[in-house]
Amino acid sequence: MSGHISFFESVNNYVETAASYTDIPKGLIEQIKACNLVLRIKFPVRVGEDYEVIEAYRVQHSHHRLPTKGGIRYAESVDQDEVMALAALMTYKCALVDVPFGGAKGGIRINPGNYTVGQLEAITRRYTTELVKKNFIGPGIDVPAPDYGTGPREMAWILDTYQAFRHGEIDSIGCVTGKPVTQNGIRGRAEATGRGVFYGIRECMRHEEDMVKIGLTKGIEGKTMVVQGLGNVGSNTALISQREGQVKIVGISEREGSIHNPNGIDVEQLLAYRKSNGTIIGFPGTTHIGGPLAALELECDILVPAALENQITAENAPRIKARLIAEAANGPITADADPILQANGIMILPDFYINAGGVTVSYFEWLKNLSHHRFGRLENRFHHDQFQGFVNTIEDMTGKKVQDRERAFLTRGGSEIDLVNSGLEDTMITAYNQIRETFKAHPTIPDVRTAAFVCALKKIASDYVSMGIFP
Ligand code: NAD
Repeated sequence: MSGHISFFESVNNYVETAASYTDIPKGLIEQIKACNLVLRIKFPVRVGEDYEVIEAYRVQHSHHRLPTKGGIRYAESVDQDEVMALAALMTYKCALVDVPFGGAKGGIRINPGNYTVGQLEAITRRYTTELVKKNFIGPGIDVPAPDYGTGPREMAWILDTYQAFRHGEIDSIGCVTGKPVTQNGIRGRAEATGRGVFYGIRECMRHEEDMVKIGLTKGIEGKTMVVQGLGNVGSNTALISQREGQVKIVGISEREGSIHNPNGIDVEQLLAYRKSNGTIIGFPGTTHIGGPLAALELECDILVPAALENQITAENAPRIKARLIAEAANGPITADADPILQANGIMILPDFYINAGGVTVSYFEWLKNLSHHRFGRLENRFHHDQFQGFVNTIEDMTGKKVQDRERAFLTRGGSEIDLVNSGLEDTMITAYNQIRETFKAHPTIPDVRTAAFVCALKKIASDYVSMGIFP
């Protein structure tokens, strides 16, 4: 909760502000804002010699496109308001990046660290059973994915449970995404959200006039970055920004605290260090500067909160020194902190744009599942042979030899990972430029978040209008 307003209310406040820059009828805005279906479940799970009653949710926010889609979160913070807010963000996110799904989200109110693997499996399978019983899951109904506290392992349990009930359903493998690659997943899904964060920041920083306004030079290369949360999204954002964007990671925070090194932290080595020591504190060359929130206040160009919501509040916002904040986590900035950051000239890339890489590649996984073949399988060899022919012809015409390395690059047919990353990159670039054009075309729109909501609202409204539901 942020101040006196809830997470869901704060999402709706942003939507209402954005709506005032459109001519969408009020009744339609009310329908878009509403959460269509809320399922709250309580079920018992055996823990040791006793039973524990587990509280869980699945919310389908919008059915303007089907199936609905959204991750499942395992965290003690889970409650109805949080899941509703996250489901709503999924609706706007899918619309923004042209992924043809309605928004949904699930959550189980547990700290996964308190349970054994066997207990987590029992909880996940029982939750899935409840979803099947209520018709809340299926490749054409509602398709979960990983979120905070869940990953490919949980998605494999969900698939297996679903298939036990729906034996023989030809598209059953499309009932959940973010599965292990060996269990009908797709290459590139695990790192997709972090990779999308990188592509989004890189595209934003390509525009010199926008960077000058926030006191930065153009281009991501050589910029400094601080990342909060070294989980799926944070670690991949940091790794890919370092490797492919030559970004210097100067600060990292995890549950156990924050570390700093102005000369840069090798993220790959840090992940290995945390794996063997169970902490980031003490990593060679870094200084322990305080608790999990301390890193947020470090001097840096780009700040990436990638843990949970409500991390930047009215209390710490005045001390944030970054010039650009990429909301890799959902809702990391509270509603009352946002205007403080804006007033300090900080640019914010909103969550429902910058972390859309996960759902984008989940969409590719779902397409792969429904088509029952691996992307690139049919055309890979054909393109390779065709490109060999082009290179041979160029060599014959020019009398010059193409070097082996260049030939290998030029004649490559696209593999699954090439195609996934290319589709993801294109999606993030296209969506950013739509937001930017909307922002530029309406000088009164106050910030990038509002511009992004305007883009999403227009697309959702046009779906309702084309369905004939609203004039
Ligand atoms: P995760 O469970 O893999 O990682 C979260 C990490 O944050 C963990 O390492 C945890 O220890 C750390 N953490 C927890 N509290 C912290 C604190 N106070 N300070 C610093 N670190 C802390 O989760 P994830 O999938 O990476 O999700 C992170 C955020 O990104 C969530 O808001 C989620 O909704 C959002 N998101 C995830 C995806 C996805 O594909 N996984 C997609 C879109 C958005």
